[in-house]
Amino acid sequence: MSEPTGRFHVVTLGCKLNQFDSAQSEAILRTRAMEPTDDPRLADVIVVNTCTVTGRADAEGRRLLRRMRRLNPRARIVATGCYAERAPDELRRVTPADAVVGHRDRARLPQALLGVDECVTAPLAPSLADRSRGWLRVQEGCDLRCSYCVIPQVRGPGRSVPADEVVAQLRTFAERGVREVGLTGVNVGAWGGDLTPRRRLADLLEAIVRADVGLRIRLNSLEPRTVTDEILALMREHPRVLVPHLQIPLQSGTDSVLARMSRNYRTAFYRERILAAAAAVPDICLGADVITGFPGETDAEHDATVRFLESLPLAYLHVFSYSRRPGTRAAELPGQVAPHEIKRRTTRLRALGARKGRAFRERLLGRTLDGLALHAHGPCGATRVLTGNYVEVLVPGAPCGEVVAVRLERLEDDLVVRGALA
Ligand code: SF4
Repeated sequence: MSEPTGRFHVVTLGCKLNQFDSAQSEAILRTRAMEPTDDPRLADVIVVNTCTVTGRADAEGRRLLRRMRRLNPRARIVATGCYAERAPDELRRVTPADAVVGHRDRARLPQALLGVDECVTAPLAPSLADRSRGWLRVQEGCDLRCSYCVIPQVRGPGRSVPADEVVAQLRTFAERGVREVGLTGVNVGAWGGDLTPRRRLADLLEAIVRADVGLRIRLNSLEPRTVTDEILALMREHPRVLVPHLQIPLQSGTDSVLARMSRNYRTAFYRERILAAAAAVPDICLGADVITGFPGETDAEHDATVRFLESLPLAYLHVFSYSRRPGTRAAELPGQVAPHEIKRRTTRLRALGARKGRAFRERLLGRTLDGLALHAHGPCGATRVLTGNYVEVLVPGAPCGEVVAVRLERLEDDLVVRGALA
C-alpha cells in the first residue's frame, strides 16, 4: 500500500450537507496521514466542494478552482459537490480541475483524492462548525419537485440513514467531546419515508431521546408539511435534547406564487404550522426562507409577502434572490423579474428580518436560558454562547464546550446580546 503523506486544503461552498460531505473527504485524506493546511500554496491536494443552488454559486466554484491553480501549480485539484454532479463536463472544460467527482460518483472519491486504485474506507467524520458543535447527515436527496429547484437533479431521490446508525454516529460525536449536533439533509423532515417499514422523523427523534446520547440536537430546516404535532410535542417535552429552534422554508407569502413554485402547501397551512409551533414550544426560535423575484412575481405579490411575514412570530429570515437554474421548470417561465428589482425586494425583506431578530432578542432580555459555550470569543474576549433558541450571547468567563445557564442582559445595535453566567 502506497503511503502518500502531505497536506490538503478543502474549500466548501453551500449548505451544511456540503460541509458534512467535505468532512468525509478530509477523513479519506487523513487515512493517508495527510494533514490539513489553511494555505492552499502548501497543499498537495486541494478540494473545492461546489454548490449549484444559484448561478452565483456556480461562478464562485469556477473562480475558486482557477484561483487555486494560480496559487498552486503543482497540487492535485479535485472538484466535488453539486456543480460537479450537475455539469461535470462543463467543469472539466472551463476549469483546471484534475478530477471532477459528483455525488453519484462518490465511490470514486478516494481514487480521485489520493490517486490510488485500491478501495479506501474512512471512518465517518463529524463536520464541526466548532469543536463542540457539528453536523450529521441523516437524510439525502428529495422527492419533491419545486419548480425552481435543481437539488433533486443533483442529490437524487430521498434516502434516509437508519435510526440505529444515526444513534451510533451521535454516540461517536459525544465521545469526541461534541455537545451539539445539527441533523442535516436535503429534506430532513422526509426522513424515514423510504425505509421499510416506513418511518417518520418523529420516530428518529424518539429513538435519539430514548438513547440518551448526552447531546443537544438542532433540527434546523424542516419543510412545512413535515412539521408535525408529534415533533412539536417531542420538542416541548425534551427542550434540553431537541433545542427550541426550527427553520421552516416559506419561499413566498402568496398562494399564487407558491402555486407557480409547485410548493406543496399554501399560506393558510404555513401560518397554522408556525402558530402551532409557537404555541407548543416555549421560547422557540422560528426562521423562514424566502425567495424574492420568482418569475412573474408582481409588486402586489411582493407586498403581500411582506405583510404575510410581518404578521408571523418569526425571529429571522433567510432571503434568497431568485436564480434561474438550468433544467428547472421555473427557468422557462415568463416574466423573469429585473435584477435591480430583485435586489430592491431582497434588501426590503432582509431589513424586515433584522427587525424581527431585534424584537425576538428584546423579548428574551432579563431571562436565563441554557446555552452552549463555543470555542470562540467575541471582540472583548467574552465567550460566544449559543442558546437553544439560536441566540448568540457574549458571556465573560463562560467555560468553552460546556452547556451553561446564562442571563441575557442587554442588546446592542448590531443584534449582539451581552450576558452573564447565571
Ligand atoms: S423541498 Fe423543494 S426546494 Fe427543497 S430540495 Fe426539495 S425540491 Fe428543492
